[in-house]
Amino acid sequence: MTPFIRMTKAEILRVGLALGVPYRETWSCYQNNDRACGVCSSCHYRREAFRACGIPDPIEYEE
Ligand SMILES: [Zn+2]
Repeated sequence: MTPFIRMTKAEILRVGLALGVPYRETWSCYQNNDRACGVCSSCHYRREAFRACGIPDPIEYEE
């Protein structure tokens, strides 16, 4: 099943926030570094979703 396939990243983020997902403990980056790169497509979409929701992303980025 693919319950999120038709939702935007911002909509998925809101569902996670409503469920109490600890986003500080989550990882979206495609790179294998100590901190998320902030520029790969996955970081880009994650940051865009947090911006769209008007809340700060709780993780630190390389750039
Ligand atoms: Zn990244």
